[in-house]
Amino acid sequence: MNVGWIGLGHMGDPMTTNLVKAGHQVKGFDLSEPATAAAAEHGVTVVGSIAEAVDGADVVFTMLPAGSHAKAVITGDDGVLANAPKTAVVIDSSTIDIDTARELHTTAEAAGFAFLDAPVSGGVSGAAAGTLTFMVGGEPEILERVREVIEVMAGRIFHCGGPGNGQAAKITNNMMLAICLQATCEGAVLAERLGLDSATFQQLATVSSGDSWALRTWYPIPGVVETAAVNRDFADGFSTALLRKDLGLALQAGESTGTDVSFAAGVAKRLDTLVERGLSERDCSILVTLLQDGVDSESARKGVDG
Ligand code: NAD
Repeated sequence: MNVGWIGLGHMGDPMTTNLVKAGHQVKGFDLSEPATAAAAEHGVTVVGSIAEAVDGADVVFTMLPAGSHAKAVITGDDGVLANAPKTAVVIDSSTIDIDTARELHTTAEAAGFAFLDAPVSGGVSGAAAGTLTFMVGGEPEILERVREVIEVMAGRIFHCGGPGNGQAAKITNNMMLAICLQATCEGAVLAERLGLDSATFQQLATVSSGDSWALRTWYPIPGVVETAAVNRDFADGFSTALLRKDLGLALQAGESTGTDVSFAAGVAKRLDTLVERGLSERDCSILVTLLQDGVDSESARKGVDG
């Protein structure tokens, strides 16, 4: 297929690399010179505008930082809808707020386009391996038209329902991850201070009722889980900034639906503390250091108790 791609960053670069490897023609655009240089090296035809990227496209993907970027790129005067063929399916794979995602569906449909929100989980490593989980909102028939292209980048594809439901699934999942991560950090530090052997405790918890994905893959005590970011001083991984962004979207969704998400609010406060300390690019399991520093309790209680 002819693929137009806007946003060739940490995720867009490996995702387009896989599309090129699978034999698709990819024309890409990004504002950042390093991003376009890397994409060109990986076989993407880099162009100088959105209009050129979407010219003749069967499918157009956007992979951008936030809702404001997606809205500008998709609905702007020089944007995707103004320039793509009406036969193109437009897919926003960025993680954005649900309201903007639903607005994009409405605007795209009014302009005569088939549109999907299709955020992903799996991170940069999942993008490189082509094993991302796609959470798709929109008409199932539209998904079927582009399934073949998405499959190149995906391990699993879930159709989550109507417009915005892909974002709803993504945001809710990541909110649960954040809470489980905080729970794992508190358990890990408490277990250690109570004199338990960390490796033994982690192993027994994975087969007990304290189990979670965060416990199994991100255990924040060195030397317990090989792949955990604590073993490499929290370099790379899933950044504190990105988890904070996703929690912000979850808090927004909690407010708009009248849902008490105070545990998520508590974790968001802790992440803010890390950002203030200049740690936004470190892996988010660096949350554990707040407990180890002993500075956690006050701000944490404020977050949880409102
Ligand atoms: P990134 O910042 O590395 O990439 C975004 C790219 O968009 C940048 O290269 C930037 O130059 C480009 N861009 C911004 N505005 C633009 C515009 N107007 N026109 C063209 N290009 C523009 O971000 P990322 O890590 O690739 O994440 C992209 C999206 O995927 C985000 O919404 C993020 O929340 C989500 N996501 C990221 C991860 C991850 O682990 N990095 C995992 C899952 C989902």
